[in-house]
Amino acid sequence: MTAARLLACVLALGALGFYAGPHRALEADEGELAEIAAVIAGRDVTIACPGTLATLTKVSAQDGSVEFSPHGRPADEAKLSSGTCSRLRSILHGEIAGLGCLASAGDCPEEVREAAVAVNVLSHEAWHLAGERDEAVTQCYALQTNADTALRLGASPEDARAVAAFVFGDVQPALPPEYRTSECHDGGPLDLHPERTAWP
Ligand SMILES: [Zn+2]
Repeated sequence: MTAARLLACVLALGALGFYAGPHRALEADEGELAEIAAVIAGRDVTIACPGTLATLTKVSAQDGSVEFSPHGRPADEAKLSSGTCSRLRSILHGEIAGLGCLASAGDCPEEVREAAVAVNVLSHEAWHLAGERDEAVTQCYALQTNADTALRLGASPEDARAVAAFVFGDVQPALPPEYRTSECHDGGPLDLHPERTAWP
């Protein structure tokens, strides 16, 4: 082997080593996100975030997705966009400060609002993993579990409530019609806790 090829090999190994660190961290975070989704799904599921290279080369049009079989059976895995993954991971790592500002009427930083949207994406895809295929029903259930999801991601109870309220009040009304239904209200047929008066 020539010196040049040996050098190339060493460089290649060095590059792999460079990626191994972040990759391991990504897998650990995917595992944590999967555990949170599993609570809603009621079964073991996995969460897939794009790898470092995929993140650089592919821009996903969707925030998240779960495939269904022709018979209506959901896959065991939800795929999340790189943007959604990085926001959820930031919350997991405690890197998003000031989620509580979502509860106030004033403007919150873009980073904070996007983090709240990412929480909703995780709840939403988890309900697909639970077997619900209808988008409006799935999203109605997500609205009602966003506070729990935020809590499990590490948000304080106040911040978790702020996230859920923001998604309900600011994000939900702007979603396409297929994600909304008039049946989604307190005491309605999609109310997960009819005995509670708190909504969502
Ligand atoms: Zn959906």
